[in-house]
Amino acid sequence: MERVYNFSAGPAVLPEEVLKEAAAEMLNYNGTGMSVMEMSHRSKAYEAIIQTAEQDLRDLLQVPDNYKILFLQGGASQQFAMIPMNLMKNKVADYIITGQWAKKAYAEAKIYGTANAVASSADQTFSYIPDCSDLPISENADYVYICENNTIYGTKFKQLPNTKGKTLVADVSSCFLSEPADITKYGIMYGGVQKNIGPAGVVIVIIREDLITEDTLPGTPTMLKYKIHADNASLYNTPPAYGIYICGKVFQWLKRMGGLEAMKAKNEEKAKLLYDFLDESRLFTGTVRKEDRSLMNVPFITGNEELDAKFVKEAKAAGLENLKGHRTVGGMRASIYNAMPKAGVEKLVEFMSDFEKKNH
Ligand SMILES: *Cc1c(COP(=O)(O)O)cnc(C)c1O
Repeated sequence: MERVYNFSAGPAVLPEEVLKEAAAEMLNYNGTGMSVMEMSHRSKAYEAIIQTAEQDLRDLLQVPDNYKILFLQGGASQQFAMIPMNLMKNKVADYIITGQWAKKAYAEAKIYGTANAVASSADQTFSYIPDCSDLPISENADYVYICENNTIYGTKFKQLPNTKGKTLVADVSSCFLSEPADITKYGIMYGGVQKNIGPAGVVIVIIREDLITEDTLPGTPTMLKYKIHADNASLYNTPPAYGIYICGKVFQWLKRMGGLEAMKAKNEEKAKLLYDFLDESRLFTGTVRKEDRSLMNVPFITGNEELDAKFVKEAKAAGLENLKGHRTVGGMRASIYNAMPKAGVEKLVEFMSDFEKKNH
C-alpha cells in the first residue's frame, strides 16, 4: 500500500526522508553493529546522538547559552504538574485559557497553589485569542502560562501576552519549530514532540537557568525536578533514547530545509492554500477568527454533521487520512505540520473542491 497523506493532529506525519534513514540504520547504526534501540544510553555512540540533537535544536531556535534544553518523558501533560512544582515559589500563577490543553494545565496547577484564569476565550468555544495586552496579572505571580498554539481549536497567539515582567511559560507542542521564536521572551518553552517533531515519548523543555533551582514544592519527586535533569544533561535515568534519535534526525532535516525562516515560509504557503479555499467556499467554513488562525491546525465545518461524516469517510478513501475534528468539537481538522508536503494540502483542497461541487 502507498503512504497516505496523514492530517492527524498527533502523533502525526514525519518527514519521509527521516523515516527512510531510520529504516536504513535500523539493524546497524553507524557501524556499531546494533540498533539505536539496543545501545546503552551511556555509550559513546549514543552520547554523540543526544549531544548533536541538542546542538542542532540550539542552532535552529538560536537558544541562548543561559537556557538549558532538556529531553524528558511523561508527555506535555506531565509538564502541567512539573511546572508548578518547580516554579511556584509564591504559590501563585496566572493562566490564559484558550482551549482544552490550557484548561488542563490550569486545573493541574490548582493542586499546588493558587492558579488564576486571567483571560479566557471559552465564551466563543475558544475560536479566538483574547486580547492579552493589559491583563490583571497577579502582583506575586510566579509565572504566566499560555498554550501558544491550540491544537484542537486551531488558534495561535500571534503576539505573546504582556506578562508585566512575569516569567512566561508556553506549551508549544503543536507549533514547535514551525517558525522562528525569540527564546529570550520565555522562561520555559516546552512541548511534546509527537505533533511537529518526532515520535511520542519525548517532551522537550527549554528553560532559563535561573528557573532551575533546588527550591521545589515539598514532596516533588526527584524525577520531576528540572535540576536533576539539567545537572545530568537529560541522562539522569534512561531517556527515551530512540525517540530522541528520531528528533535529532528531524532537526537535521529542518537544517537541510533551510531552517525555521524557510519552514515558516513553507507553512504560510500551505496554510494560505487551505484558508483561501475556505474563505471562498460555499460549503466549508473555517471556525476560527481570521487574525488568530493557526498555521498548523485548521478546523472547518460544513454545518451539517452527516455531511461532515461523509466528507471524512470519502477523504479517507481518497488517501487523505485523519481529517475528523477532535471528539470534543466535531467537524473536520486538517493538521498541516512541517512534514506535510505542499502536495498533500493541494490534494486536500482539490478533494474539497470536488466534494463541494457534488454536495452543495
Ligand atoms: C497534544 C497536546 C498536549 C498533550 O500532550 P501529551 O504528550 O499527550 O501529554 C498538550 N498540549 C498541547 C498543545 C497538545 O497539542
